Amino acid sequence: MEATPTQTPRKPRGRVEIDIQKCKGCELCTEACKKQTLVLSDALNIKGYHYIIVNNEACNACLDCALVCPDAVITVYKLQRSKRVNITPPDIKEQLRAAATPKPEPV
Ligand code: SF4
Ligand code: SF4
Repeated sequence: MEATPTQTPRKPRGRVEIDIQKCKGCELCTEACKKQTLVLSDALNIKGYHYIIVNNEACNACLDCALVCPDAVITVYKLQRSKRVNITPPDIKEQLRAAATPKPEPV
């Protein structure tokens, strides 16, 4: 059987936070988002408006939604690529060599 390549899920590049109590559900942001990341909720906020909810998995931090929101209730964060940190002990070769060397039998 042929091995299938494993797919790792794409890490989100952006994160959007919406002040839902100030959203008036005009949906300008849903039209602006090319990733279809924003949707109008069924629930109402304290002002009686349907508000926007976000699926941050698809967000690419393009900022379009925040730029069109007339009430400036959207905040967009760009997620930094995590740094690769080498956690290998500096003396790993010596440790491996010592483990592979047979110990002398006690006399
Ligand atoms: S930042 Fe861009 S991709 Fe993310 S929700 Fe807003 S419009 Fe959509
Ligand atoms: S553009 Fe702003 S006020 Fe309008 S629905 Fe989107 S978040 Fe709410």
